[in-house]
Amino acid sequence: SLVLGIETSCDDTGAAVLDLNGNILGESLHSQKEVHLKTGGIIPTVAQQLHREHIERVVNEALALSGVSPQQLSAVATTVKPGLALSLGIGLEFSRRFVTQHRKPFIPIHHMEAHALTARMTEQVEFPFLVLLISGGHALLAVARGVDDFLLLGQSLDEAPGDAMDKVARRLSLTKHPLCSPLSGGQALELLAQSGDRTSFSFTTPMGQSLDCNFSFAGLRNQVSLVIEKKEEEEGVAPGSLLSCVNDLAASVQHTVACHLAKRTHRAVVSGGVASNQYIRKALSLITEREGLRLLCPPPKLCTDNGIMIQSVCINPLTDIVLSLLHVDPVLFLRAPLGSDLTAEVRA
Ligand code: ATP
Ligand code: FE
Repeated sequence: SLVLGIETSCDDTGAAVLDLNGNILGESLHSQKEVHLKTGGIIPTVAQQLHREHIERVVNEALALSGVSPQQLSAVATTVKPGLALSLGIGLEFSRRFVTQHRKPFIPIHHMEAHALTARMTEQVEFPFLVLLISGGHALLAVARGVDDFLLLGQSLDEAPGDAMDKVARRLSLTKHPLCSPLSGGQALELLAQSGDRTSFSFTTPMGQSLDCNFSFAGLRNQVSLVIEKKEEEEGVAPGSLLSCVNDLAASVQHTVACHLAKRTHRAVVSGGVASNQYIRKALSLITEREGLRLLCPPPKLCTDNGIMIQSVCINPLTDIVLSLLHVDPVLFLRAPLGSDLTAEVRA
């Protein structure tokens, strides 16, 4: 069976063709990152327009590279939530036309469940496993009990780690920094942190007293903002033009984020854009090593949004059954095989 996956939930237009063993036959990805970096954030209407301009080419490229014709596909799997409504709409509209035209079954995909299952695309992972999802929009800790069965243990009470790091980076004008120019805020922080001293600033690790599995990043961001303001005043520079201690700040922020995540995580499979951060991976590996557990992190390329991860739910013998059932009424928009706690919580 061959599945075409389509992802347009945020600012990446992604498509890929995979078989049910997770082999990638062809993939294509168009990133809008550079456009959004210029405007200092994602403007939904701009994202929508860029998805509209690129989706057909991206899908055709994935099909062409895989040497698979639309007729040979068993199904089309597309992200339906969560994400920016305008962005999701383009992928959905395209998929609806595609499956209608080629009479193929449609598999609705939950974006966070796809992130959660991405580790299974490169490693043999048995259920149940604990999954830490740290991305631009979420921090989630969940037990993955099966492809369609997640138990949510904790989530961010305010903002996501990627979002918080992007905002800190923007506040420091890092994305305009010559060394960091095509990088996301989180990537820029990681790069500069390499030559910074993490002990030069001491931030309080969030939620030190709390025994649950939730996360918080807004308070940390606030601490960082106050420190930046103070430094700017001390050095008499305009907001966003600190130069001297930027690397130290980046290292200290990254360290505090890593401590917060590591403290709440004992056995993890990590995914989501922030999971491509090597320092955070290292911090988590210290915890898992001490506990004698295995830490799995998908390759960075699979961590951020892409068309490949969208089929991670399809690597399951069960999917064969789902797919063959679907063939009975190919153009049926069936409800997601994803009635999970994670889904319910994320939706709420
Ligand atoms: P969600 O999946 O919650 O909808 P998203 O899809 O926008 O969010 P991803 O594409 O998974 O998020 O990841 C993007 C985020 O990851 C950005 O906030 C970016 O700054 C962050 N990120 C990417 N690389 C790194 C890195 N090396 N270190 C820290 N953060 C990073
Ligand atoms: Fe994502």
